[in-house]
Amino acid sequence: MTEVIDGETVAADVRSDVADRVETLADAGVTPGLATVLMSDDPASETYVSMKQRDCEEVGIEGIHVDVDADAPAGELFETIDDLNAREDVHGILVQLPVPDHVGKREVLRRIDPEKDVDGFHPENVGRLVAGDARYKPCTPHGVQKLLAAYDVETEGADAVVVGRSDIVGKPMANLLIQKAPQGNATVTVCHSRTEDLEGKLAGADIVVAAAGIPEFVDGSMLKAGATVIDVGINRVETDTEKGYELVGDVDYESAREVAGAITPVPGGVGPMTRAMLLYNTVKAAGRQHDVDVDLD
Ligand code: NAD
Repeated sequence: MTEVIDGETVAADVRSDVADRVETLADAGVTPGLATVLMSDDPASETYVSMKQRDCEEVGIEGIHVDVDADAPAGELFETIDDLNAREDVHGILVQLPVPDHVGKREVLRRIDPEKDVDGFHPENVGRLVAGDARYKPCTPHGVQKLLAAYDVETEGADAVVVGRSDIVGKPMANLLIQKAPQGNATVTVCHSRTEDLEGKLAGADIVVAAAGIPEFVDGSMLKAGATVIDVGINRVETDTEKGYELVGDVDYESAREVAGAITPVPGGVGPMTRAMLLYNTVKAAGRQHDVDVDLD
């Protein structure tokens, strides 16, 4: 029987742990604060930010939101970041990506105080992750690790294939899976747009993490029987429904479920974990900045 990996349930457990840590912090007189910054008119980005703010409220994190006009000069965003870096009630800062083309993404990520970089994208935090000394693990791959742990998926010695090499998913995911640590010790192959014989690589994989952003392109015929399939993809495809679209993963769920040992659905798999791990990192950040032991990895 294929096990369906239920991200909603695991994320609820993470949120409940986070809410406990919020109480620990409250006992020490600290209210964790997360600042979101949006410099975009994209409705999807607006939705993501408001979801993050709602998530904060649910667990007792103080949400602070700043809008920067999408046409404003880059300096305005940098000043906003500098102000948030200096605020004692702000422990985590998240600048919603993408930022407009006239603003350099790299500069934005470097500008955020690494102690407040709860996305884990600052080069110092990327370096620490690679060195096996992560301060904040990026939310999506960290969420995947939590799912693997919750479902006792053996990673040690497993052949894992990560499809995608982005800075926010593929690369940190591969780095976490090769670490000499729990939910690590895997042998990892990273595939990308120039990979030859993706099918051959997938055929030998005990664990597949699909993060290419291509709707349903991994199907059951490409998978090894019993593989654990983690579908990170969130793709909008047009439908005849009232909404006009539906969200699908990078994996063709129906055919993959016939072959996989365990699989995440879309929605309801990795997505809720990404959201929960942001709260987790924010509480961890508040603990670090006020020297309160919140006991989070
Ligand atoms: P990205 O566009 O930055 O990266 C896509 C990667 O896929 C690239 O590294 C590229 O080399 C690789 N790729 C492209 N075509 C390929 C092919 N034919 N074969 C193999 N690899 C190929 O995307 P991203 O930001 O990493 O996101 C990937 C997907 O995950 C998207 O659908 C995104 O919406 C989704 N996502 C979901 C969550 C979540 O919480 N579930 C979080 C982040 C991203």
